[in-house]
Amino acid sequence: MSRALRLLVVTLTALAAASPAAATPWTWPLGDHRIARPFDPPDSDYGAGHRGVDLPGRPGQTVRAVAAGRVTFAGRVAGVWTITITHGAERSTYQPVSPVVRVGDAVTAGQPIGRLLGRHPSCRRTCLNLGRLRGDAYLDPADLLGSTGSYRLIDPDGSPPDPPDLGGGDLPIAGPVTSAFGMRVHPVTGVRKLHDGVDIGAACGTAVPAVAAGEVTRAGTNGPYGLQVEVRHAGGTRTSYAHLASVSVRPGASVGRGTVVGRVGSTGSSTGCHLHFMRLLDGRPVDPLGSGG
Ligand SMILES: [Zn+2]
Repeated sequence: MSRALRLLVVTLTALAAASPAAATPWTWPLGDHRIARPFDPPDSDYGAGHRGVDLPGRPGQTVRAVAAGRVTFAGRVAGVWTITITHGAERSTYQPVSPVVRVGDAVTAGQPIGRLLGRHPSCRRTCLNLGRLRGDAYLDPADLLGSTGSYRLIDPDGSPPDPPDLGGGDLPIAGPVTSAFGMRVHPVTGVRKLHDGVDIGAACGTAVPAVAAGEVTRAGTNGPYGLQVEVRHAGGTRTSYAHLASVSVRPGASVGRGTVVGRVGSTGSSTGCHLHFMRLLDGRPVDPLGSGG
């Protein structure tokens, strides 16, 4: 091994050792040590289940970071206000919370990060949905919360949970994420392959705005994507809007954030009206909801 390479390995090993341990106990993000709905992950990646715990609370209540870390997302995911904090190899997610922190902020355990909003689809009353992720895997937050004291499980009744919240970038339209980015069996072809974007449920004809300013690089029919608009943004990323019923921009046109590029439809390989939204980094599809994507 060359001297330079050995130095690099030593440096990386030291960095890995210095990163915070994942299993630091969490402090409770709301005042009470109560869980309204426990962790009950689905059998399949995209099945129904409950990916986190619901903690009952009051609208406007202060929400606090469960552990020291850095804010890596603060914004809306499928219309729901979400904060993601990265703690070494794991992440905590908080919904629905109006943030008082920004992406990049360092936070300490117990530091206020936002205020609890009134409604979350997975709770009958106001609650905080607290998630714990390692990579793409959802873990039980109670394993870390429980170690800081006993908690009470209350009234587990509630309506079905949200689609998966993966933390990350802005989506162009409000609506449920009906199919996430990742490997899946294609609903039309039956073939197992990468689902290279996220599907957002929306009524036919819903206006589709660009998520950021850029230049239109494609506007037309593109095989299984149907009618598709692709926009190139500063920094080399592209976004794509597929299965459109109609497009309202031409290749070469400049668009701003919010410029309507088309209307939701079901053209191409599609089973019903929805938006297939993609984010491409150097031409490669990445998870539009993934942090840093
Ligand atoms: Zn899709």
